[in-house]
Amino acid sequence: MYYNSTKRKDVQELDVLDKLQILGEGAKYDVCASTATKSSKIINPAIGSTSPSGICHSFTPDGRCISLFKVLLTNYCEKDCAYCPNRIDRNVPRSRFTADELVNVFMEFYRRNYVEGLFLSSGIFHSTSATMDEMIKVAEILRNHHKFGGYIHLKILPGSSAAEIQAAAAVADRISLNMEAPSDRHLAKLSRTKQYGPEIIGTMAKIGAYVARYKDVSHTTQYIVGAAQESDRDILTSAASLYKGYALKRAYFSAFQPVKHTPLETVSATPLIRENRLYQSDFLLRLYGFHLGEFVFDAGGNLDPDIDPKLAYALNHPELFPLDINQASYQQLLKVPGIGPRSASRIVQVRRTHRLNDPRELKNAGVVLKRSLSFITLNGQYFGDRRLLDKPRRQTYQQLALWGDERDLYSSLITG
Ligand code: SF4
Repeated sequence: MYYNSTKRKDVQELDVLDKLQILGEGAKYDVCASTATKSSKIINPAIGSTSPSGICHSFTPDGRCISLFKVLLTNYCEKDCAYCPNRIDRNVPRSRFTADELVNVFMEFYRRNYVEGLFLSSGIFHSTSATMDEMIKVAEILRNHHKFGGYIHLKILPGSSAAEIQAAAAVADRISLNMEAPSDRHLAKLSRTKQYGPEIIGTMAKIGAYVARYKDVSHTTQYIVGAAQESDRDILTSAASLYKGYALKRAYFSAFQPVKHTPLETVSATPLIRENRLYQSDFLLRLYGFHLGEFVFDAGGNLDPDIDPKLAYALNHPELFPLDINQASYQQLLKVPGIGPRSASRIVQVRRTHRLNDPRELKNAGVVLKRSLSFITLNGQYFGDRRLLDKPRRQTYQQLALWGDERDLYSSLITG
């Protein structure tokens, strides 16, 4: 076993199972992306093609993907990210796969039906270019030699060149570069060796330019939530700018967990509810037409952990509710708690034939009535509880909780 980057020996001395243990463990801190895809990067793939049905992956209850072969090429790394188990000065077993070794392991797992696709990340070994080239080589061998037509997600390392991004995109269904922190100021708290401008934003710009032009690959990112004392507003502001200017498909949020023998080992773990609220807000940004200015943040720029951000918005805007379901535009419907894009579309469709009078029709359209009824009217009729819309009672969850039965009423509107 090799304990740090200054004591490297011939990695061939480790057998593949040892490497797998080290490099599978090292990869678990990366959030897998949702991976449904119809694309295949090769014509007439011999194996692994999921077209036309797409791949369906399983997720653990906390949102982690479990059906990809998720592994690092190496856990050697020249960077010093304070939260990371692979940071340069951490005294842990180190190893690396060669491209051929990794391909062989993957194909063995694939043939045994253990995995459907590959999620390949890596520390930085020798140089960004050398590591990135080896990662690309893994995917190229799978595509070109084994005719693998399944899902491949490649991490793009900070500082990768446009040519490397292009080569990765040519063989991957998804590429991703981790932001980790929302700004220069925040990243500086986490690393002395990672440069936000050239290595993160500069690389993100190259990825965004490629994806916007060719559209045959998607790209995502990940934030470590709570490691750099950033606020929810900081993270959502950063994500919104990536959606707008960098063709980002999706941001992922990973609640910070302290790792022993790192500079942040004594810092408290970030509560998972914070991660959850960020995911809900991200959905509102991407799919519900919400703008950053519509989120309700506290004085520190954070979302309320006790209520979901859409309910917080509705409670904060008594002037907009109750909303007449028969008059509201599609975009207005999306602002109602309990109504999503699909149910809003169905309501608009049904209204073409008749006016909606009965809450049961809303239920048939997919509306979650217990969340929506207090915020809507149907042909002038109100079926909810006006106490939620009365201004003096529009206080915080903690205040409402003092009123006993109203806590039940309020809790019924809270989404998990
Ligand atoms: S670049 Fe940072 S986060 Fe990535 S493996 Fe190296 S130390 Fe960890």
